[in-house]
Amino acid sequence: MTKNQAHKKKLIQAKFIIGVLAGKGGVGKSTVTSYLAHALKEKGHRVGVFDADIYGPSMRALLPEDQPPQVQGERVFPATSGGISVMSTAYFPRDKGPSVVRAPIATQIITQFIEEVEWGTLDYLLVDFPPGTGDVQISLMQKLFFNGAIVVTTPQELSLLDVRKSMKMCIQMGVPLLGVVENMSYFSEPVTGKRHSLFGEGGGKTLAKEFQVPFLTDLPIDPKLGENGTPLFQALAQQMRTQLQEEKEYKIKEEDRYHFSIEWLDGKKSLYRFSEVQTYCPCIECLGKKEPLADVEGEQIVRVGNYGIQILFSTGCSKGIYPFSLLRDLDR
Ligand SMILES: [Zn+2]
Repeated sequence: MTKNQAHKKKLIQAKFIIGVLAGKGGVGKSTVTSYLAHALKEKGHRVGVFDADIYGPSMRALLPEDQPPQVQGERVFPATSGGISVMSTAYFPRDKGPSVVRAPIATQIITQFIEEVEWGTLDYLLVDFPPGTGDVQISLMQKLFFNGAIVVTTPQELSLLDVRKSMKMCIQMGVPLLGVVENMSYFSEPVTGKRHSLFGEGGGKTLAKEFQVPFLTDLPIDPKLGENGTPLFQALAQQMRTQLQEEKEYKIKEEDRYHFSIEWLDGKKSLYRFSEVQTYCPCIECLGKKEPLADVEGEQIVRVGNYGIQILFSTGCSKGIYPFSLLRDLDR
């Protein structure tokens, strides 16, 4: 990857990028994404939603825009819906015909969205994945650094087969699984509150156990889930935050005066030269120094949560924070 591209990626300044995945369509993945976004927003977080479900973008209906997206030259500014930033291919209809988009084109469109959208500074970017495990999904995972993924399923055994593939894809791509959400789990009688399982039982819990990840919540069948389900989504948001804040066990090591290494969760080990990393420093002193200074040493590395590291360089600069997303991209 060229430095130019890495800089572009850094433009998505989100503390946490979360994928919301499902094995197949129709399990309410986008609905869960939109209510989760609301729950995070209500807690005072800056939230963005990227509707990457290019084959069936539904976020525009779920999060109707107060302000449409703005295009300025090459940059695109997201739409806003109740204080949530939203980007979807639905804002840019390609033609009026049936939207059959071939995979290479789809990947190209997704890449363009990742590189050209100005999200500003976010706490959470929720990425609503297209269902399945094809090129578009893999490409998203290659281009964005996901802090974690939530998997949405229904209780039926049939939908579990597909969702297993999605979970395996996350593992293969080094995206931590934050847990399983079971949607359309039960219908509760309005008067008695008695629960009835309409589509089988326990699918989500089975999956969570199988993959040794948390079972985050089960959600009822409720046409007014947005209103009635607020406490459920608040609880889901809280659980997700807890999962994210447990510090990831990246092993960061100063190899010698000039180099350090990071061992990622998937076992991959990346080696960096301090002087090279310093060229990404956003501070005033370093800005504009495009060429690495040959003899720059790293004196100290300070970890900044699950977000990145801060380095004290021998030149005295210690201001820059280097996100793990950037570091991971530099070694892709
Ligand atoms: Zn600097």
